[in-house]
Amino acid sequence: MKYIVVLGDGMADWKCDEIDGKTPLEFANTPNMDRIAERGRCGMLKTVSQGFDPGSDVANLGVLGYRAEECYTGRGPLEAVSMGIDLKPADLAYRCNLVNVTDGVMNDFSAGHISSAEGALLFKELNEKLPARARGYPGVSYRNLLVIGDGKGATTKPPHDITGEKIAEYVPKGGDEDILAECVAISREVFKDSPVNKKRIAEGKTPATQIWPWSGGKKPVLENFREKYGVTAGMISAVDLLNGIAVCAGMKTIKVPGATGYLDTDYKAKADYAVKALKDGLDFVYMHVEAPDEAGHLGSLKEKVLAIERLDGVIGEILDAFEGEDLKIAVLPDHPTPIALKTHTADPIPFAIMGPGIEPDNCQVYSEAEAAAYGGYGQLNAKDFLRTFFGN
Ligand SMILES: [Zn+2]
Repeated sequence: MKYIVVLGDGMADWKCDEIDGKTPLEFANTPNMDRIAERGRCGMLKTVSQGFDPGSDVANLGVLGYRAEECYTGRGPLEAVSMGIDLKPADLAYRCNLVNVTDGVMNDFSAGHISSAEGALLFKELNEKLPARARGYPGVSYRNLLVIGDGKGATTKPPHDITGEKIAEYVPKGGDEDILAECVAISREVFKDSPVNKKRIAEGKTPATQIWPWSGGKKPVLENFREKYGVTAGMISAVDLLNGIAVCAGMKTIKVPGATGYLDTDYKAKADYAVKALKDGLDFVYMHVEAPDEAGHLGSLKEKVLAIERLDGVIGEILDAFEGEDLKIAVLPDHPTPIALKTHTADPIPFAIMGPGIEPDNCQVYSEAEAAAYGGYGQLNAKDFLRTFFGN
């Protein structure tokens, strides 16, 4: 038996007036997800532990069966591990966005989706000026890292949650607040005169005016995935934090060329690599696609529907590739990212599982309402999801 979880980040949503009160999942043309719901069994899943922010890190840890209460230290360290940074036990790793703050307001949490190459140049300039305890590490696009030696942690705010708001009241507080404030102030000075930003401004693009450190923590300890579930496992994701979870859990990280973590990601390449990894011997692949969440953050109904339909298309390819073979497949998001809200909620999400031995329920299509009303699994807690999926 082969197993695959297809996770469309943030694809659950609320009903939208513009599409006759349907959700994007209900409105989008998704014959393959619907086939999984119709021939398989649906349910609702509470992915976010009580008292935690509904970040993709906590939610995906939940889907994988790891309880945030026991293992979550922050987003920063997961991404650091994924980037191959050797975190010492006393190191505090913060996620560190390149952002655009204009007139004291968080204008863009991604600095115009700045390129990785430009980000790397900005961090090179920044590292020459940072204090000895601090070091920046460029990652993918606006998603970078700041590591503080002998760090204490701090209360921070995700920049995508304060778009359009004054930043003053959301700066890091407690613990590392002084050194973080110092690093941010240095970044403002360095970036102001950087050739990278001058070029971006000349090209009409949004400049990165400063760094924004958030969600810091020490390296987490996760139970080995294979020992937990008895299967060999791989992760396909363009997003560092998902790959970091995979590294900490002892899953294989499968790099896919063309996977961008954005709307333009190569869906087909992801599916091809997932199929190949399974055919080459892995038991389980977790295929994560970030695009629906990004569309949600943009508040773009059109892009969200498109992302869902593209994901559905490659689910069709995966199903075709295993025609006549034993495959168990699940489709779900990690959390809703309602386009009306432009950020995540902690509400339970709909899931569908199809495969040998799964008794169909009365769900005809894959949607929030159908899974809630007719889902044969009822509502599950995250820690039970993969046990249910694997049947162990
Ligand atoms: Zn997410």
